[in-house]
Amino acid sequence: MKLFQTTFNPRFIPTIREWAQSTSLREHGAIIHIYAPYTDKSIYYKLDRIQKILNIELPGVPVVGCSAIGEIINGSIDYNECVITLTVFDEPSTNVHVLSFYDLRKNCSDVFFNTIKDIPDLKGIEIICANSDIMLEKVSNKADELPEDIEVFGAVAVGDDDNKPFIFTDDNDYHTEGIFLVLYSGKDLHIQTNRMFGWKAIGYPLHVTKAEGSVVYELDGKPAYDVYSHYLNIKKGPNFFYDALEFPWEVQVDDETFYIRHAKSVNPDGSIVMSTSIPVGSSIRLSYGDPLRIMEHTKQAGLLIRDFAPEAITIYNCFGRKLFWDEQDNIEIVEISKHMNAAGFSALGEIMRYKGKTILNNLSIVTASMREGEKKELTGIDEDQNIASPSMPITARLAVFINTITEELMEKNSQLNDMLYKASHDALTGLLNRGAIERIIYETDNSSDWFLIMFDIDNFKQINDTYGHIEGDNALKTIAKYITDKITVNENIECGRWGGEEFIMLVTNKTSYYVKTNAEDMIKKVNQLLSIGYELTISAGATKHKKDESILQTITRVDELMYKAKNNGKNQLCCDL
Ligand code: GH3
Ligand code: MG
Ligand code: MG
Repeated sequence: MKLFQTTFNPRFIPTIREWAQSTSLREHGAIIHIYAPYTDKSIYYKLDRIQKILNIELPGVPVVGCSAIGEIINGSIDYNECVITLTVFDEPSTNVHVLSFYDLRKNCSDVFFNTIKDIPDLKGIEIICANSDIMLEKVSNKADELPEDIEVFGAVAVGDDDNKPFIFTDDNDYHTEGIFLVLYSGKDLHIQTNRMFGWKAIGYPLHVTKAEGSVVYELDGKPAYDVYSHYLNIKKGPNFFYDALEFPWEVQVDDETFYIRHAKSVNPDGSIVMSTSIPVGSSIRLSYGDPLRIMEHTKQAGLLIRDFAPEAITIYNCFGRKLFWDEQDNIEIVEISKHMNAAGFSALGEIMRYKGKTILNNLSIVTASMREGEKKELTGIDEDQNIASPSMPITARLAVFINTITEELMEKNSQLNDMLYKASHDALTGLLNRGAIERIIYETDNSSDWFLIMFDIDNFKQINDTYGHIEGDNALKTIAKYITDKITVNENIECGRWGGEEFIMLVTNKTSYYVKTNAEDMIKKVNQLLSIGYELTISAGATKHKKDESILQTITRVDELMYKAKNNGKNQLCCDL
């Protein structure tokens, strides 16, 4: 395969003619990409001209494109020009399909799925979208049902309030909403995607407790802005964006997967407008952007790209990352392009499927490398990989120091939580142990009504003797599971293991009627817990704490009531409610 690249310059027509002559497009799969600077006032006029020329000179080759910023050509960022690329495949089996959806009401995911299921040897799906989070989500979810070796990559078109982002395909219309997909297939086509971050998590995990779209209101119940004011002393105001850019959030998806979001602005109520949405319940950590570390990460990814020996690379660079590097914004692009001249653009979000899940990233670089057939020797690449690393600046060392301390404290904290749990819970049943439930009973607020239910398994000795101790343990676990799943999910009820096969329950803020009927119901339900073998029954007592009595008196009374239930023939409730 071959990747041709040019800007829209005075030599555009001769260049395109040269492309057309150097390759016989009729027999080969091919695609044209156009990356258009969104701030250019005459962009639509230029694009019309470009498309007209392409139509004449390269008829039949599908064209796709989007608004962008910092268009990449020949491994370097160009700021003002449209970049046009032509990818031509050599193998007759390699094919390109373009699918576009501009009507947000239409069900794109089904059409998408029905199309791809008939394409043999599908290797990769490029997604470019404008203002269509919902479509992107739908298509991503469908793509994630595909075998994991199918790569998904792409980006979000760039725009602002005055110049809306747009995408286009062959229909010569510019759409400010929608999505298009380029499907790459072929038995000899190989695609590798890479993702570059380099940010280092330094803070404790915090949880998004209130958010709507890309506005995050609360982290662990506190205004989201606190994380920047409290830990970093970053002020609200016009500099917030740039100050916060060095400290984006790492959002955890699962143990191995995360993505980055950056803060764009602070609202007067302390909520933060993030680069893209973060769902409620997400766990986030503040992270630090150290240029050296980021470059190191990019170099490592660059080596993976080199090992793949690509014949073409597309780079989707983040606009925010470009701002982070400021004057040096070309540094990473040049690094990646050492291995093969690349084209692409800076976007408002970089899409990549990672471990089977398609994720919309921010502040990342996503690359899609392609090759047909076996690896060929790469020529003309810079082999000098052993550039001495400059010594680490003190800020970078401090970030490592903070990160290490945070990790150690988190480890200690989790050990402490583990110990606290073990100290207050019974190992066999997982219920509160006697000490813990006793403490809770003694600390109960006496100003409102509270009740105790005590129950004990009937003829438990016999169960042990007949079926063995292990079966006895199982019976205890079965009852405990029922209580945890069905009873103590009610926040007004606590239950603890009082002794061997004896349990106590504290009920607050309920009526006598509620306690009585629920205790009776529990006795009935326990009867049904074991469907085969022996009968599992319990006897219970229930009583209400009287205002002028001691807690010990209440406990003694519920114990007596329970024994009364035993004496009355077991499998029943005895209460004074
Ligand atoms: P009742 O109906 O009067 O309550 O009779 P019971 O047999 O249930 O009562 P008893 O107090 O005679 O026997 C309780 C038995 O529970 C004795 C003890 O070995 C057994 N036990 C206590 N803790 C455990 C435990 O953790 N696992 C098992 N398998 N048995 C236990
Ligand atoms: Mg018993
Ligand atoms: Mg007992």
